[in-house]
Amino acid sequence: MAQRDYYEILGVSRNASEAEIKKAFKRLAMKYHPDRNPDDKIAEEKFKEAKEAYEVLSDPQKRSAYDQFGHAGVDPAGMGGAGFGAGASFSDIFGDVFGDIFGAGTRGGTRAYRGRDLRYNLELSLEEAVRGTTVKIRIPTLAVCDECGGSGARKGTSPVTCSTCGGHGQVRMQQGFFSLQQTCPRCHGTGRIITDPCPACYGHGRVEKHKTLSVKVPAGVDSGDRIRLSGEGEAGEHGGPPGDLYVHISVKPHPIFQREGDDLHCEVPVSMVTAALGGELDVPTLDGRVKLKVPPETQSGKLFRLRGKGVRSVRSGTAGDLICRVVVETPVNLTKRQKELLRELGESLEADGVSHSPRTASWLDGVKKFFEDMTGKG
Ligand SMILES: [Zn+2]
Ligand SMILES: [Zn+2]
Repeated sequence: MAQRDYYEILGVSRNASEAEIKKAFKRLAMKYHPDRNPDDKIAEEKFKEAKEAYEVLSDPQKRSAYDQFGHAGVDPAGMGGAGFGAGASFSDIFGDVFGDIFGAGTRGGTRAYRGRDLRYNLELSLEEAVRGTTVKIRIPTLAVCDECGGSGARKGTSPVTCSTCGGHGQVRMQQGFFSLQQTCPRCHGTGRIITDPCPACYGHGRVEKHKTLSVKVPAGVDSGDRIRLSGEGEAGEHGGPPGDLYVHISVKPHPIFQREGDDLHCEVPVSMVTAALGGELDVPTLDGRVKLKVPPETQSGKLFRLRGKGVRSVRSGTAGDLICRVVVETPVNLTKRQKELLRELGESLEADGVSHSPRTASWLDGVKKFFEDMTGKG
């Protein structure tokens, strides 16, 4: 596949200065950075392309090789894969170029890396999720070591500049007609050597700690929502900025209500007599009981909608509904007299020649048709 010209990718002229190249890459990287364009393949490609162009054009030696020989001069395949670009990981670019934007920066030749993001799973009751709450959470995290202030060197000492790379973190190796840059094998790119490690963090500059945070959960959140606590993730390496903490919400099942979007669903039992004659029912809502008028001849399974008694959405601010499904109950523990009354009622219902069972008639028709079809086929 034909490769695009690096100058063209960055949109700079062939005699652009280092500052112009850096500025052009910064602009593209800000625009196409994967963090800003999640799941965007085109942006990802553009970002990779710009990064590759920047890696070459920002390095005077690679740039001159590219100017002279084109892509063949800097192509890793054409080099027998001799480690070109091996040291130029994303973090390097990040540290170099984004330092002044995101405060990642390099400190005294040491590369500073942003700490990792953390995830915390928070279980809430339905009431807490609907009304909002403040929860204290305790999380294990890597924090900056108090003993050495994050340097990793024993208190009172400081890391020394790596003599192999002179503190640059990169070493140049002569290969053919130009030199290659590689991560320094001695200091692993940090540019510094800790001769006397801090005993508290074993030279890592970070220690595992528990911290307690207060998380404000807004009203209306649901399972799958997440709350970002900026800067509450792991501490960065070598004084880099910390990552973020993401609190993932899951809502526990409720004994009465089931939530569907902003609506709440519940079942309300109703006696046979109230269902037949109509009446008032006590219905639970999250704000307390309300009366629900049930019309006469209410069938089991009928849904009643109580507007605005659902969940107030965290995003739209509008409230959903409470949907009550009435379930007609068959009476139990009947006395002899009550059974007599029911038998009497049954006889009366059969005797007057009027259909009192709206479903049964159509159901019986359905059953009849089912058996006819079966015998017809057989
Ligand atoms: Zn320490
Ligand atoms: Zn080194």
